[in-house]
Amino acid sequence: MAKADTKAKAMYSTQVANDGDVLVEVDNLVKYFPISGGFLATLLHRGDIPAVRAVDGVSFNIKRGDVFGLAGESGSGKSTIGRLVLRLYEPTSGKVIFDGTDLSKLSAEEMRHLRSRMQIVFQDPLASLNPRMTLGQGVENPVEIHMPELNAEQRRQRVLDIFHAVGMNPPESFYDLYPHQISGGQRQRVVLARALVTHPDLVVADEPIAMADVSVRSILLDLMMKMKHEFDLTYLFITHDLATAKYICNRIAVLYLGKMAEMGDVDEVYAHPLHPYTQALMAAVPVPDPTKRRKTKMPEGEIPNPINPPSGCRFHPRCPFAIEICSQVEPELRELRPNNQVACHVAEKFM
Ligand code: SF4
Repeated sequence: MAKADTKAKAMYSTQVANDGDVLVEVDNLVKYFPISGGFLATLLHRGDIPAVRAVDGVSFNIKRGDVFGLAGESGSGKSTIGRLVLRLYEPTSGKVIFDGTDLSKLSAEEMRHLRSRMQIVFQDPLASLNPRMTLGQGVENPVEIHMPELNAEQRRQRVLDIFHAVGMNPPESFYDLYPHQISGGQRQRVVLARALVTHPDLVVADEPIAMADVSVRSILLDLMMKMKHEFDLTYLFITHDLATAKYICNRIAVLYLGKMAEMGDVDEVYAHPLHPYTQALMAAVPVPDPTKRRKTKMPEGEIPNPINPPSGCRFHPRCPFAIEICSQVEPELRELRPNNQVACHVAEKFM
């Protein structure tokens, strides 16, 4: 099947030089969500407009064919980054370059064309499917938008082909069903089918298996990997679960309170995590041999308020290794091993 992107692949005047291997460049991305808390809130924040600092200066590249994981607790900013990458949110500052095109420079019409090449899979398949549309109509919808050259019969065939690819067989038997008439696992397959029906280059998968029954999670992950090879996909895979990230990702970035804590090749980061927060997250991953249980514990306490994050290293109030400088100076992201960067003043001691 052809991709829906002949127009989208056209050169935009906004194209910038880029390494041909890189599909997505995220450069110093910042997203603050202003909050209206009234006079008292403004007073408490010394006249500044208070804002949730969801993403605060995050940079990374995703190479073509990567499964790039964004991991962290709730409130780390990972889902916000996913939406910024697709320009579903406008950044406060910083930029996203997709296949050499600076998204911030595109008009709404240019962005609409490019959207066929970048899709999202949400966590809750029931909420992301229209209950009044049949499965066939729902999956056909993006084809109608992005592939106006196809007639009704060709659109229907495209939907049947993608149903077959994601294992919904026989495809015709699913076309006229409604979302409530199929199982949760099948609904997640439909959501994946809808994301893939225009043959995108990038899929942002936001906790795609978090709501699936435990028994079908590995089946869905295997299906995503099969689709990756079949459709030549690149994934930005968002998860709070490091075991899932290890299963599917080749690169990983660990986020804490809107900042990058550590980034690297997944095997290296898992084998030798350099940031205390990564070590703590790793401690929560079950290990098959109980005698090899990790010594590090998940830190006590809640993730701090992103409206008023801690000074210096944002992890310092929860970090068992914090020293004086940690509350005063923000650590920079440093490359301590090839392809492995970490933002911690004392990371050398974990090498
Ligand atoms: Fe802990 Fe300090 Fe490293 Fe932050 S910089 S992770 S507080 S040791």
